[in-house]
Amino acid sequence: MAVATTASVIRTLHRIQRQLTDLRSQLAAGPKQISVQTKRLQNVENEKSALAETLKKARKHSDEKQLLLRSSEAKINDLEAKRNTAKANREYQLLGEQIDADKMAIRVLEDEILESLERVDEITSQQPTATDNVKKVTAALEELKKQVQKEAAQLEKEMARVLSKLTEVESELAVETREVYQRVVKHKGEDGMASSEGGCCGGCHQKLTGKMLSQLMAEDVAMCRSCGRLLYEAETNS
Ligand SMILES: [Zn+2]
Repeated sequence: MAVATTASVIRTLHRIQRQLTDLRSQLAAGPKQISVQTKRLQNVENEKSALAETLKKARKHSDEKQLLLRSSEAKINDLEAKRNTAKANREYQLLGEQIDADKMAIRVLEDEILESLERVDEITSQQPTATDNVKKVTAALEELKKQVQKEAAQLEKEMARVLSKLTEVESELAVETREVYQRVVKHKGEDGMASSEGGCCGGCHQKLTGKMLSQLMAEDVAMCRSCGRLLYEAETNS
């Protein structure tokens, strides 16, 4: 078995760091999905309560019109009773005119009541859908939470495995290289490392010096002077 070169160890570490980044982003995705679905639930709940509020107002409006109708009808009855006992023709005539006007107003009111009742029916018919939406979104959220929890458990397990591999591989580095590696990883994570690409830094594309290139050729690592990334020779030419 060949002795691992510094470059090959860094190459492996870079791969492991990328895995960790990927695992972390997968772990973060679950709570984000949950937050989106929670907002959806809030929205459908708001829609449902807004509909209930609209219905309450429409019923109140309809009730008020009906109350007005009853008092108008009572008023007409009173006027008719008065007319029946009217002594003078003039009084009889005036009461008759008022009764006619009030009856006209009642017909308008009756139309309005019909409209208000239709409105109440219309809103009432929308309620099952609103209730159903809340149920559906609640169930979807519960399902999502379970799924995310299950996935997170698997990801955590995988994370633990990768982290233990990381520690194992890190211990293969010489002390000086390990210190440099740990410093760049601490600041930039996986982006603290890059392979060389055509004599340039694979991270910032700055041209590398002859000394750096010969270090890389010797399967050692080099530090990019421009971006500070820890560089290694890409694996393709080995
Ligand atoms: Zn660079």
